[in-house]
Amino acid sequence: MNTKEAVKRIEDLTKELNHYNHLYYIENVSEVSDFEYDQRLKELQGLEEQFPDLAASNSPTKRVGGDITKKFKTVKHEYPMLSLSNTYSEEEIVEWENRVKKLVPGKVNYVCELKYDGVAIGIRYENGALTQAITRGDGSKGENVSANVKTIRTIPLHLKGNFPEVFEIRGEIFFPLESFNALNKSREENGEELFANPRNSASGTLKLQDSSVVAERGLDCFLYGVYGTDLPADGHYKSVLNAGEWGFKIPTPEKKYLKRTDSIEGIMEFIHYWDRNRADLPFEIDGVVIKVDDYGQQEELGNTAKSPRWAIAYKFKTEQASAELEAVTYQV
Ligand code: NAD
Repeated sequence: MNTKEAVKRIEDLTKELNHYNHLYYIENVSEVSDFEYDQRLKELQGLEEQFPDLAASNSPTKRVGGDITKKFKTVKHEYPMLSLSNTYSEEEIVEWENRVKKLVPGKVNYVCELKYDGVAIGIRYENGALTQAITRGDGSKGENVSANVKTIRTIPLHLKGNFPEVFEIRGEIFFPLESFNALNKSREENGEELFANPRNSASGTLKLQDSSVVAERGLDCFLYGVYGTDLPADGHYKSVLNAGEWGFKIPTPEKKYLKRTDSIEGIMEFIHYWDRNRADLPFEIDGVVIKVDDYGQQEELGNTAKSPRWAIAYKFKTEQASAELEAVTYQV
């Protein structure tokens, strides 16, 4: 491809991705599958690497998808709330793990988690009381949806045990399939339009102006990350377990929702297990997330503008995406 063609293709892809982003994050609608979206993003990334002078600073490859609607007060995040780099390929997980081992000295432990298909939330606690809940927004600021988050029963308003004085906990708000199906059933009975999928409905519900409607819908939340200056743990795994003791709903090793391993074999075993068994879960996941456990090593690895280098998401191919992947492979 010559430079003129690259300019045109980059412009087209950017326009298209910005359009999908707006629909997905603001309108809660998906016009294409995640796989198609990710293929286009990857193509844009490839072109920007090949033609670095053409890479715009506000390219969709460099920005966290923004969900700011202007319906709520905007608040700056104390810790940036980033996205995750993702892949549909096991080889790329192996490459990522090799890179991590090269970049940080010493033994590396990894934490494997489910990738809940919902919407991210950052919740602040002061002296054990929930003071603020903010959406991811554009990564540096999000919307204050505290009133709605307080209606979710699995998010404690007051903590127990030995929690830090001030900290932020991050997690994913999602629709359990039972609540989602019940909601659609009652919409059908009332002659209302059905919601397309649990992810988009969770995102839309969290942005409703009337908290009493949010309360009725049965959203749930898994917590998966703790941020603060005086945390009683030096790694992610221990922090998640601590959060369980403070009263949060956390993924547990007993249910195989959480696993710590020091090997690529351990990571692959987790990926394969959940690829086989995800249909039995009472909520939707779109993949798994692998994180470097140790906070010191996480800091050494740092972040890109869009995502931490110490974590990666492996996304499962949906049936539709598998067909698309085959088509793509066939064309090549
Ligand atoms: P993402 O959903 O790929 O990953 C980041 C998010 O994962 C986090 O913000 C968090 O909310 C969530 N998450 C779930 N479980 C987690 C865990 N255990 N640990 C940490 N985070 C966890 O990234 P994104 O920036 O929210 O969205 C980008 C992706 O969304 C794209 O790659 C694409 O697949 C999809 N998308 C699709 C369309 C479409 O039109 N189909 C449009 C825009 C984006």
